[in-house]
Amino acid sequence: MESRVPRTARIALNRPLRRLFDYLIPEGMQVTRGQRVQIPFGRQQLTGLVVETDVEPPEGITLKTINHALEDWQALPPETFELLSWASTYYQHPLGECLFTALPPALRRGRPAREKEEESWVAQSSGSELPANAYRQKALLQWLSQQPAPASTGAIIKAGFTSAQVNGLTGKGLIERAKQDSNPAAAPLSPDLRPTLTPAQQHAASQLPAGREGFDATLLYGITGSGKTEIYLHYLKEHLTDTGQALVLVPEINLTPQTVARFRHYFGDRIVVWHSALNDGERLNTWLKVRRGQPVILIGTRSAVLLPFTGLETIIVDEEHDSSYKQGEGFRYSGRDLAVYRAHLNKCPIIMGSATPSLESYHNARQGKYRLVRLEERAKKAVPPTLSLLDIRSRPLEGGLSRPALNAIRDTLDRGEQALVFVNRRGYAPVMMCFDCGHMVECPRCDTRLTYHRRDRAMRCHHCDYQAAATSHCPKCQSEAFKPVGQGTERTEDTLAEAFPSVPVVRVDRDSTQRKGSIQAILEKVNSGAPCVLVGTQMLAKGHDFPNVTLVVVVNADGGLFSVDFRAPEQLIQTLLQVSGRAGRGNKVGKVLIQTCHSDHPLLKSLCTENYLSIADQLMAEREQGQFPPFRHMAIFRAESDTMQNSLELLDAIKPSASGPGIEIWGPLPALIARRADRHRAQLVLLSSQRGRLNAVLAGICQHLDQQKLPPKVKWMVDVDPMEIG
Ligand code: ADP
Ligand code: ZN
Ligand code: ZN
Repeated sequence: MESRVPRTARIALNRPLRRLFDYLIPEGMQVTRGQRVQIPFGRQQLTGLVVETDVEPPEGITLKTINHALEDWQALPPETFELLSWASTYYQHPLGECLFTALPPALRRGRPAREKEEESWVAQSSGSELPANAYRQKALLQWLSQQPAPASTGAIIKAGFTSAQVNGLTGKGLIERAKQDSNPAAAPLSPDLRPTLTPAQQHAASQLPAGREGFDATLLYGITGSGKTEIYLHYLKEHLTDTGQALVLVPEINLTPQTVARFRHYFGDRIVVWHSALNDGERLNTWLKVRRGQPVILIGTRSAVLLPFTGLETIIVDEEHDSSYKQGEGFRYSGRDLAVYRAHLNKCPIIMGSATPSLESYHNARQGKYRLVRLEERAKKAVPPTLSLLDIRSRPLEGGLSRPALNAIRDTLDRGEQALVFVNRRGYAPVMMCFDCGHMVECPRCDTRLTYHRRDRAMRCHHCDYQAAATSHCPKCQSEAFKPVGQGTERTEDTLAEAFPSVPVVRVDRDSTQRKGSIQAILEKVNSGAPCVLVGTQMLAKGHDFPNVTLVVVVNADGGLFSVDFRAPEQLIQTLLQVSGRAGRGNKVGKVLIQTCHSDHPLLKSLCTENYLSIADQLMAEREQGQFPPFRHMAIFRAESDTMQNSLELLDAIKPSASGPGIEIWGPLPALIARRADRHRAQLVLLSSQRGRLNAVLAGICQHLDQQKLPPKVKWMVDVDPMEIG
């Protein structure tokens, strides 16, 4: 018999620390990797996650003992754990924070892993029986009666009411608890109402992996309107077993409620959703469903890839090129790339679809790492829209729109159809300028100009939260020749409203869609099909299916043509093709007019004559020439502090340890927007063709920086596979 050695556990905490903590396991307690435990830490009680057991603790320290395990099962099952610990090494982010990102907020805080019954409420009266001075209660009743579904207590509080008001109304019987599961339980559509695949779709579908045969990655290049969603639905119908789980990643759910509705038509209540608008209770409940292995088809944004699936059979990543898959702060992972690794760990197929695949994925396809499946016909009768360039160098513009563009909009409306106008900036104008002294109004806290927002008479910084009241004269010389310069969505909206007074002009941007449900209301209006003009930002480019939009006008395509960011041309082409793809999706032919001052630019010219993959081939050749990603791997160290000197010094200090064979270094240099919210930002870019070497160098530097005592207010971070440089 062996003598009893006290058992130990190595534990990760939800802290930005690149280290773990050893504890004794009380006698008789069973713990394994991935389990939640409660531990004494200083004078606090913290929730930790077990990383390993029975490893030799460092010598000479007295270990404290775990208090108790929070449950007798692993909050992070083995495959999820492995995914996260791989990600921690790959993205150089502390393991503890990576692991805790995968827990719902309630479980991070040590709450029990039990379903939370979220109460939801419905109005029972219009409130006429309330005393005249009970305006808040009346307002709540009115708000409730306008909600499409029962509202949870959390949602009510988010909308600005209090639980006291809820209690008051319950006491008077004016509102009632709704039955549980307020998800509008869409019954699946009867099979004969579901579309059958077109011959082109069938051909594409036949090239997809048969499932259950191990890891297999496919890039589905399907032009806009080719019906990629239909392919996903059929694929799941055919290959997902009754007990299996599936993950469908999408960029932003709230923008495309139609997609979720289509999945519900096929799979009814098997569909669950995961996105940033869920409250803590909803998050916990959905997380538990997944953890219990219920056979869900989970449609979710980026972080859904971290959910604790145990029976995953298929992964789908829709619009795989979308930059929202990359987390921009903290644990800077790519949801798409983790999805590929997850499929690999789990030995299951993954399908990544896009009309404009990222050069990274396309590179993998060209190298034979991914299957490439092409779907180059639209699902409905219409052919892809025709694109043409409209040179605006010598044309007078009204609200950014040229005469031919306005005429084309008029013709479209006259035919009873809809037009969409794309402007890449929200607000009224990107800058206010004095025509006497030349002064342009800048943000006092950033190296940027303030955007003029006419609707609420404000000048706002789009890079920090600074805002000031708009003035009618120059703040510097008091001249009244103080005018907006350039185009924003509000300004174009005004021009359109004036030019077409008899049709609705609907603006879609972050400002107009802030209120919950407003985007849904807008989409419903557009889908009714009546003539209207939509004007908006990127938001309009994302996955929408507006059958009656037959004209798209791009106000100015020149933004990305001369940028220093090596990704700018790729992103420009993707945005232009995605927004163009909103035209002619029904049974009528669509037309796209792209206004530009550079109509002879080769990139814009090829946009009108070639398909995306051949443009991608050209862009790829340029990337190869410059040895940019995907031909080399990139990582960026960023530093920020209250002076530029401190930021540059920090990066200068790490530069020698970054240097070495096989690594190219740029910088340190001030960032493109060097000062943001009064923080001075600099960066050091590392490039290498060997992922392993780059990773080892990054790890060494991170470890070193962790042990340094940095001057106060100096912060650093590392971004692996950055989406933005500058
Ligand atoms: P994508 O995501 O590839 O741009 P969608 O999946 O939104 O395209 O499909 C475009 C339109 O074509 C949608 O209105 C969809 O309902 C319709 N559609 C797709 N496949 C079929 C089909 N096989 N039969 C009829 N309509 C289809
Ligand atoms: Zn600012
Ligand atoms: Zn002036």
